[in-house]
Amino acid sequence: MPGENLTRDEARERARLLAVDGYDVALDVRSAVRPEEKTFRSVTTIRFRCSEPGAATFVDLVAPSVSSVVLNGRVLEPAAVFDGTRIALDGLAASNELVVDARCAYSHTGEGLHRFADPEDGEVYLYTQYEPADARRVFANFEQPDLKAPFTFSVTAPEPWTVLSNERAEPDSGTGGTWRFAPTKPISTYITAIAAGPYHMVNDVYSRTLPDGSVLEIPLGALCRKGLAKHFDTDEIFTVTKQGLDFFHDHFDYPYPFGKYDQAFVPEYNIGAMENPGLVTFREEAIFRGKVTQASYESRANVILHEMTHMWFGDLVTMRWWDDLWLKESFADFMGAFVLVEATRYRDGWITFANRRKAWAYRADQLPSTHPVTADIRDLQDAKLNFDGITYAKGASVLKQLVAYVGQEAFLEGARRYFKRHAYGNTVLADLLSVLEETSGRDMAEWSRAWLQTAGVNSLAPEVRYDAEGRIAELSVVQEAAASHPELRPHRVAVGLYRRGAGGALERYARAEADVAGARTTVAQLAGAEPPELILVNDEDLTYCKIRFDEASLATLRDRLGDIADPLARALCWSALWNLTRDGLMPAREYVGLVLRFAGAETDIGVLQSLHQQARTALDYAAPQWRQEGGRALAEGALRELRSAEPGSGHQLAWARFFAAVASSPSDLELLRELLDGTAGIDGLDIDQELRWTLLESLAAEGAAPEAVISAELARDDTASGKRHQVRCLAARPSPSVKAQAWVAVVESNALSNALVEATISGFDQPGHRDLLAPYSAKYFAAIERVWAERSIEIGMAIVQGLFPRYQDRQETVDAADGWLNAHTEAPPALRRLVSEARDDLARALRAQRCDAAAG
Ligand SMILES: [Zn+2]
Repeated sequence: MPGENLTRDEARERARLLAVDGYDVALDVRSAVRPEEKTFRSVTTIRFRCSEPGAATFVDLVAPSVSSVVLNGRVLEPAAVFDGTRIALDGLAASNELVVDARCAYSHTGEGLHRFADPEDGEVYLYTQYEPADARRVFANFEQPDLKAPFTFSVTAPEPWTVLSNERAEPDSGTGGTWRFAPTKPISTYITAIAAGPYHMVNDVYSRTLPDGSVLEIPLGALCRKGLAKHFDTDEIFTVTKQGLDFFHDHFDYPYPFGKYDQAFVPEYNIGAMENPGLVTFREEAIFRGKVTQASYESRANVILHEMTHMWFGDLVTMRWWDDLWLKESFADFMGAFVLVEATRYRDGWITFANRRKAWAYRADQLPSTHPVTADIRDLQDAKLNFDGITYAKGASVLKQLVAYVGQEAFLEGARRYFKRHAYGNTVLADLLSVLEETSGRDMAEWSRAWLQTAGVNSLAPEVRYDAEGRIAELSVVQEAAASHPELRPHRVAVGLYRRGAGGALERYARAEADVAGARTTVAQLAGAEPPELILVNDEDLTYCKIRFDEASLATLRDRLGDIADPLARALCWSALWNLTRDGLMPAREYVGLVLRFAGAETDIGVLQSLHQQARTALDYAAPQWRQEGGRALAEGALRELRSAEPGSGHQLAWARFFAAVASSPSDLELLRELLDGTAGIDGLDIDQELRWTLLESLAAEGAAPEAVISAELARDDTASGKRHQVRCLAARPSPSVKAQAWVAVVESNALSNALVEATISGFDQPGHRDLLAPYSAKYFAAIERVWAERSIEIGMAIVQGLFPRYQDRQETVDAADGWLNAHTEAPPALRRLVSEARDDLARALRAQRCDAAAG
């Protein structure tokens, strides 16, 4: 990634100097269908003003070659002004026109203009992905969020293709192969977008009457590869889309500003989705090729609503620089769950939020790389790594807590004012705080200091004393902070008291809300209450904290966790127990035992699937000598639950997948084989193609699926998705030569696309292959600096995170990581960050193993 960085200081200086009036961008991608052609023509005209005539600046462009550069009619010699990443400009006039004619490269790493050739039918698909700064791989521009401008795109493409961009195509566009698009509203470069190819497209329309009596009509489109068309459930996608648009028009008081609303599901996508105005892109795995659980539908709906939120919060009003990335991501993450619950059939959105999103935040907030929600982003490499659990999930948790603090109406009214005041502009944190202060009447400075400007997570524990009659004499909430981040914060919490109800369930019989501050806060309202069997601080999940229990409550959970009637309270208890396990305060085998006893009765499918994941991680947290026994117990338990689950239910499917993941005994593997070849069946369980691959991947990792069997499966499912599964299965086989091949394919070659790099790594890195992977620990530390220097940042991140020797879970590996960090103090901070995070996860696993060993 040489020379591609851009610093905040450079961006500030350029924004001080320039104002951009508009871009005309003409792309010619007819070469895309010829695999030997690596580049396409890109001609950009930029009209911009300069406040200091005579000054110098630069325009960003990452391209193999530039044919011509003309500034205000003056021809600049490309070799003299273009260094591969920037074009130097000097002698600027007050008003300028720059024309850059370049050859840009098709991408196979998902960054810039990605080209994908579908192995099923040979069709070629293109789409763009830019955030934070990859538009410059497609056309010359001033790549920073605060130099907004209208963009007019035209694209010349193979004639039968469909070409889409942020704006609608001009009438008669596409005839002769050139598609012209209406000028966009003023937007930032990173949210401009193109999709081109023989996409399958379905149309619909959203309309509603606005307060002034006029009718707003938004044309809707949904598109995917032709090969996925038969699985494309556009009715469901459009339903959620319309419910979201209804909600935002009801509450934002600012009509959708970008005309049409297309949603493209694209192949080999690096992230979940991207909020390009008028042309949102999603990873195509959100189109389900086989049966999935309700949790997957809920998750997709959440993403649709998250991206839609960005149309206002992010696209219409945009952060000035990546320091305030959280402004848009926290807000969108919060609204994703909020609108899910308020406006769609997915009413359990807050349970998922408490259970999954917060787990992401808690993990990120305890890493050495944790940072305040408002981060210090010096340059683009910092920015790239800041799409993390703090920016999204902690930020959203903090906003949820803010809503509890200022009230929902003040919060939404703040948003409305913010949109009106800053439409098409750029903002910083203070702009949001000032509207919230206006609408809530509360002092936001202290709140912001405690929650946004400091890092770390507090834990809240109950402390209770009883009187002579056995009633509560005093109940306090005790707040603690980690030594590394000692800040104690103000928390709005609900404390719930639970005991056995008439039917035997654990039910809440008393509740109090309190403002917790400092190390100890007495909850006076609960004095005199009947004695509880379980005390749940942060009931209802109002604040962001790790929940701890008193001994009596913990004993209750050990015996009767599954008896908690309320699904949110139950999810919070599971989450708290998982945090205890991660912190080495509860032996991993005990957590596995809880999953075995109580997961079978878990009604919330999203929580159940989290428990499955956590149980697998718990095996890595277990003492090595117990691991096999624990794995066997999980497999037996999974099979029991699979056989007793309701036929055809999501729970049955989840247990089937979990069983496949933990199966290892000869009889378990035999059952997987029989399910695959149809000689065994489980009532109601449809072994569709996706489930077939899941079963096969487990067999492959156990050495029970030779190459011929894997090839036969690919022949059965000869599609792009099938190809990814096949690559994963091949790399999962337990043989030294397979591992060596996979390593070379990923680390020593640049031939694989991003999706196949990901598939190879996930196949390679198996918990059951600790011995086979041992030689790769030293190779990893020897290779990563070169990998980081030579490969694109997406691929660099995939390799540095994915190949870290996490299954060499010994002190020597932690020492090796420390050794590398000490010897590479000058390595790029982003690379050091990834290594130190992986090192921290490993050290945590070793601590948990010691806790577990002590219990064994
Ligand atoms: Zn987002």
